[in-house]
Amino acid sequence: MTLTPALHDSSLRARLSGSQALAARAPLGERLPATRGRISLGRALSGMTWFGVGGPAEVLFKPADLEDLRAFLAALPASDPLMVIGVGSNLLVRDGGIPGVVIRLGRAFAEVRVEGEHIIAGAAALDATVARVAADAGLAGFEFLAGIPGTLGGAVRMNAGAHGRCLADLLVSVRAVNRSGHSSTLSPDRLSLSYRHCGLPEDWIFTEVTLKGTPDDHSAIAARMAAYQSVRADSQPERARTGGSTFANPPEGPRAWELIDRAGCRGLELGGARVSDKHCNFLLNTGTASATDLESLGELVRERVRATSGVDLRWEIRRVGIKAPDSLPSGDTRDNTTGDAS
Ligand SMILES: Cc1cc2nc3c(=O)[nH]c(=O)nc-3n(C[C@H](O)[C@H](O)[C@H](O)COP(=O)(O)OP(=O)(O)OC[C@H]3O[C@@H](n4cnc5c(N)ncnc54)[C@H](O)[C@@H]3O)c2cc1C
Repeated sequence: MTLTPALHDSSLRARLSGSQALAARAPLGERLPATRGRISLGRALSGMTWFGVGGPAEVLFKPADLEDLRAFLAALPASDPLMVIGVGSNLLVRDGGIPGVVIRLGRAFAEVRVEGEHIIAGAAALDATVARVAADAGLAGFEFLAGIPGTLGGAVRMNAGAHGRCLADLLVSVRAVNRSGHSSTLSPDRLSLSYRHCGLPEDWIFTEVTLKGTPDDHSAIAARMAAYQSVRADSQPERARTGGSTFANPPEGPRAWELIDRAGCRGLELGGARVSDKHCNFLLNTGTASATDLESLGELVRERVRATSGVDLRWEIRRVGIKAPDSLPSGDTRDNTTGDAS
């Protein structure tokens, strides 16, 4: 099979890397480490994010299993950019795409098992699955996860939370792989988790998470889950192309949505992007938005909030990649799996 180099334009490589040395090297797609996983060059990421926007990944890598991930990282030069994505429920991928390697963990990392009061789950397991398994096992404390549409890896990175609870409240330990492919078990204090923040360097990849719950009645757990679900249905847009809360709540004072409302931004539109009428801290892709529309609308909201309240809102949604027109061309797929990676 012929592989189409995703970055064949050397001037683009130089602009992306800012380094003459990198520009002189062979395209990334032609010098990737051997893998049993799946490699796609120039694969569009728009279908892998909740916003449904964004350019391609220069290289998308789905490791076959933990050993494959470790070997790949060990052999990938440290100078090549790397990032990991979950299911893209907190990501705004820019229209120009993401240079370097984007890693997405598949089914090999999605197992969830119960051991006494502990849930041990792969980082690609969905939060909702973990909440359901815990409920079935009569373990309380996981109910808030049922409505968060991400993976457990994304939940650790974001210290995801709702209804007064967050991932840190449940966390016993994580297994994580560093940029050199070394895997270790980390206790919560190594992660410096705080409100929607994790202090571990961005290039560490969580692969497995151990959480601890508290035994409780099945009916009490089910009732809490239903109550949380109904709060969500009443306050948030449903079946929408969104990234959830756009901005973090400031440490004190009014919440982000109140500041946005006071600034008159409810329903504000820019291109195909719109501030939700139902929850004005949610940005929506109405169907035709580009990542630029969404990011520009977010910046406009920040400007108006700064002008009306003097508060500088912090993006909670992760904006990644490069802006158009430095777009990466689309490419080819190399699949070495036996059908395991999803
Ligand atoms: C409708 C809607 C409702 C939401 N409600 C909530 C809510 O109530 N509370 C809340 O906290 N969030 C909420 N979110 C945001 C989002 O679901 C969470 O932040 C979620 O934890 C992100 O997980 P993900 O798998 O989608 O990660 P992604 O969005 O793919 O990535 C987010 C970050 O996590 C990192 N990451 C992903 N996987 C890994 C891994 N294995 N190892 C290391 N880093 C990793 C990525 O690099 C990125 O920096 C909502 C989003 C939507 C669309």
